[in-house]
Amino acid sequence: MSSGKTRAIVMRETGGPEVLKIEDIDLPPPAAGQVQIHHAAVGLNFIDVYFRTGLYKAPNGLPFVVGKEGAGTVTAVGAGVTDFAVGDRVAYASSDGAYSVERNIETRHLVKVPEGISLETAAAMMLKGMTVEYLLNRTYKVGPDTVLLFHAAAGGVGLIAGQWAKALGATVIGTAGSDDKVKLALQHGYDHVINYRDDNFVERVREITGGKGVDVVYDSIGKDTFPHSLDCLKPRGMWVSFGNASGPVDSFSMSLLAQKGSLFATRPTLFAYIATPEELKACAESLFAVVQSNKVRINIPQTYPLADAGRAHADLEARKTSGTTVLIP
Ligand code: NDP
Repeated sequence: MSSGKTRAIVMRETGGPEVLKIEDIDLPPPAAGQVQIHHAAVGLNFIDVYFRTGLYKAPNGLPFVVGKEGAGTVTAVGAGVTDFAVGDRVAYASSDGAYSVERNIETRHLVKVPEGISLETAAAMMLKGMTVEYLLNRTYKVGPDTVLLFHAAAGGVGLIAGQWAKALGATVIGTAGSDDKVKLALQHGYDHVINYRDDNFVERVREITGGKGVDVVYDSIGKDTFPHSLDCLKPRGMWVSFGNASGPVDSFSMSLLAQKGSLFATRPTLFAYIATPEELKACAESLFAVVQSNKVRINIPQTYPLADAGRAHADLEARKTSGTTVLIP
């Protein structure tokens, strides 16, 4: 049982990585419907940067403990909780407050981590891996006939996506921002990887596909790849805009989709795809299965102490990281 205090990265203002400071905070016993967990590891995600800069607003304002993804062990159980017990290994991807040593969390966010998957791996993959699950299986149904383009192929989401898409039999084209990242992506399922800092990715995609274009583009870059991503699509292809690493896409007229070939466009979020307990369970089980089968390996090239969350953010934004990153409390 906790001492009533813990440590967490508390954001008191929006801004650069320097606003992420570690503090002692109160930790009350878990309320009804909650458990208390001790984190083994916390996932670093680009969405944490959007909250830090203020692009996305903290739901209850400031101060705010940033972070949506973590894994740990249950240390206390609130009233009415019957499905989790002290000692359970658990993980989550959808509740603010992850950058902390210990925390209370509603059990509706939690899944139990199966044997054979470490808590560090779980913290590294829940948010990114469940994102890949819905992008490849539900936003667009990827299969052996699919030719797809996935930007930021060597990133956290990107390395999982390449392997999973390959396992589904697709032809997988990626982009990455350095030659080392190109090599890494090629080792993680991608058939072709374009260095989009050096090459025109629209021309290269046209060459690779014999002029046809791809069925679906997964674009988490936003501003810098718009509208070029649309020019990579076949007629009636789908543009999946799921992130803003370079800044948000500017407003555009719907008629652009007509001009570029009767395209479909969607702007999905993970949280809408795991909104019910049934969806969360199915999504997590699908991820656990693909990892336990070794079709998808979770690459964690970087770990930082939790207290160095600011440095981790700076490296993520400077495009210095590849694969997933975890913070260790
Ligand atoms: P990544 O590890 O992929 O890091 C982002 C990568 O984007 C960088 O490594 C870099 O790769 C590339 N990039 C291109 N331009 C820029 C730029 N101007 N500044 C910074 N990075 C740039 O992060 P995550 O795996 O955490 O997330 C990937 C994306 O997916 C993010 O945009 C995130 O918001 C989005 N996402 C969306 C979800 C949803 O449900 N909608 C859920 C989860 C993630 P390179 O150097 O190779 O270009």
